[in-house]
Amino acid sequence: MPISDPIKKQIAVKSLLFVKICRKCYARNPVSAKKCRRCKSKQLRYKKREKSK
Ligand SMILES: [Zn+2]
Repeated sequence: MPISDPIKKQIAVKSLLFVKICRKCYARNPVSAKKCRRCKSKQLRYKKREKSK
């Protein structure tokens, strides 16, 4: 579904990019998280930030 509203797209992109992904269970965690909320693993990585315009 294409998003035509640029503001909505900005929010969508932010919410997609500003997360940490657990390397173990691939759960999404907030950027401020130090541990995975699901499996308590500390192996979190940032979601890749790719420019897709
Ligand atoms: Zn996890």
